[in-house]
Amino acid sequence: MVLVQIVVKRFSPAKAAVGSARKTASNRTQPTSASKLLKCGECGALMVLKRGKYGYFYSCERYPHCRGIHSANKRTGAPLGIPANRQTIEARKRAHKIFDLLWRGQNSPMKSRPEAYAWLRKVMKLSKTDGHIGRFSIEQCQQLIDKVTSWYKKV
Ligand SMILES: [Zn+2]
Repeated sequence: MVLVQIVVKRFSPAKAAVGSARKTASNRTQPTSASKLLKCGECGALMVLKRGKYGYFYSCERYPHCRGIHSANKRTGAPLGIPANRQTIEARKRAHKIFDLLWRGQNSPMKSRPEAYAWLRKVMKLSKTDGHIGRFSIEQCQQLIDKVTSWYKKV
């Protein structure tokens, strides 16, 4: 527990000298700085920043009684998106997989990630802040999957 708190202190909003060249990149993954108040998507208890084999992540403070987890920026530990329950996390993963087909990979119909996200914001009617699958509800995930599917039908 003590260790985790030290890690949080050392890594929270220490925006390690973000040069102007990296400004666009950092805007995209806007870290929600209120990491200390991050609530578990399963039970509502607070989440704590931990470091695992693959970098930082958030775990419910009630672990092992609650298995709630949430992803973090691998380097800075900033939370990514809004914590959710397991069902929503699974829905987000499915939506992401399908959405990424639009821009990732050799034969993708869209040229870049920004182009795909601009499209996502348009069809989902979302702001730049909310236009991330990590913030989606189950309903929004399904909606996105439907939009991508019908987009493919039109092409
Ligand atoms: Zn929990």
